[in-house]
Amino acid sequence: MSGMNKQGRPTSIDGAGAAGARETFTGNRALEHEEPLLFELDNPGACGVDFDDPGEFTSHLGNFERQGRIGLARVSEPEVMRHFVRLSAKNYSIDAGLYPLGSCTMKHNPRLNEKMARLPGISDVHPLQPQQTVQGSLELMSELSHWLKELTGMPGVTLSPKAGAHGELCGMMAIRAALIARGEDDIRTRVLVPESAHGTNPATAALLGYKVDAIPATKEGRVDLEAFKSKLGPDVAAIMLTNPNTCGLFERDIVKIADAVHEAGAYFYCDGANFNAIVGRVRPGDLGVDAMHINLHKTFSTPHGGGGPGAGPVVFSEALAPFAPLPYVVNGKDGFRLVETEGEAEADGTTPFGRMTAFHGQMGMFVRALSYMLSHGSDGLRQVAEDAVLNANYVLASLKDDLSAPFEGPCMHEALFDDRFLKGTGVETLDFAKAMIDEGYHPMTMYFPLVVHGAMLIEPTETESKQAVDLFIATLKDLARAARSNDKDRFTGAPYMSPRRRLDETGAARRPVLRWAPPPAPAQAAE
Ligand SMILES: *Cc1c(COP(=O)(O)O)cnc(C)c1O
Repeated sequence: MSGMNKQGRPTSIDGAGAAGARETFTGNRALEHEEPLLFELDNPGACGVDFDDPGEFTSHLGNFERQGRIGLARVSEPEVMRHFVRLSAKNYSIDAGLYPLGSCTMKHNPRLNEKMARLPGISDVHPLQPQQTVQGSLELMSELSHWLKELTGMPGVTLSPKAGAHGELCGMMAIRAALIARGEDDIRTRVLVPESAHGTNPATAALLGYKVDAIPATKEGRVDLEAFKSKLGPDVAAIMLTNPNTCGLFERDIVKIADAVHEAGAYFYCDGANFNAIVGRVRPGDLGVDAMHINLHKTFSTPHGGGGPGAGPVVFSEALAPFAPLPYVVNGKDGFRLVETEGEAEADGTTPFGRMTAFHGQMGMFVRALSYMLSHGSDGLRQVAEDAVLNANYVLASLKDDLSAPFEGPCMHEALFDDRFLKGTGVETLDFAKAMIDEGYHPMTMYFPLVVHGAMLIEPTETESKQAVDLFIATLKDLARAARSNDKDRFTGAPYMSPRRRLDETGAARRPVLRWAPPPAPAQAAE
């Protein structure tokens, strides 16, 4: 069976025979609607607003007067509402179900955070407002800075980076500024990055012009200490290390690594995206870290990954704090103010390397993160880490005999599996993940970290109940049994029941079609 919508795209019905679905007249599947593009809904004459006719006017752009329509879809208000509501219903979210995407920390975002972020006194302010009119917002930033420093045991912080990757760039720019100040920028040109690192680590180092040197992993999935030491030298600027690492394991040698890095005159950048596994339990400052970004959108909740913006504040050691970028909040005798210029910074005794963003960062995220911290308290934050680790170990222990785990022993906040259990079944990691969609789960992270073949990285987070995790585990066990008992069709054709079937993901990335073109006009009937 193959269903096509009016624009010739395959509909949800296409190939759904395997799941017993029937073709419908509309292409809709019960109350789930087949949704065209907004441009395809274009209805000449329809309009959602009621403007007066502008009458005669002259263009301010002279010769550049627009010659044709801009091409926006003409739709009525109810049609545009329906379009976006239907689309939103197709967007899988943490509010709809378990979202086991490893490394991404897709956990529940308490509604209290949203309520706080929407308070008019917070959401209606503008970054160009006079500072004396936004004292509360500045105090909030100051308070958040305080707790980030407290939780990490680090003396400096910058709030402005807008995501984890942006924070990495910020931290590495502070390291470069410190090296410039020492006159060693020309000599120290190499950055050490473990093989298992998130792609943003080597990308950041490379963007800043550093040579990236990969540190191999041990059989236990951790940094090979001896190999790492042998790579140290007078040309090393920094190491970029994630802890817990992307295999979900704590780097036990982290203090030895920090000491060796400092002895070699280099800096220790820690990728703190996985801070949720240790928050309230370990202070990175005590481990010898010089700079670390914190993904507020992971550790301190808030929707992300298509659901909202991120924020990647960076904490700094004594050595790097003076180089932190502009702006930053200070609490002076006239109240709170932002230090925004190099001149003001000089008077304040700092030497910022520059600035990362036009204004001061993602205010809405600062509110949510502070609301999350204050509502959890120190005992609650510690429990976040403990429960996240407990849930992941429950998944690991329950599934390690049905799936296959590459490393011995317990994990931190995420459980890593490889594809050995699929050997000889004709099913690959990708097929397994696609079959999960039919069962109502967003797949786990696949093929990352790269050090593990066919990796499947599962992060249940602490906000899932035992019942939810049990059902998830039972589902994966059922899928693993199906793969072993030659039920290959369940996988290689999956997903069967999603609005769209198996997509050409490589093609979409390599040859993206980013522009909609109207379908050719129907051929004129011969007169
Ligand atoms: C998520 C993540 C990043 C990048 O953070 P973004 O906010 O997505 O830019 C970097 N490193 C690790 C280990 C991560 O999990």
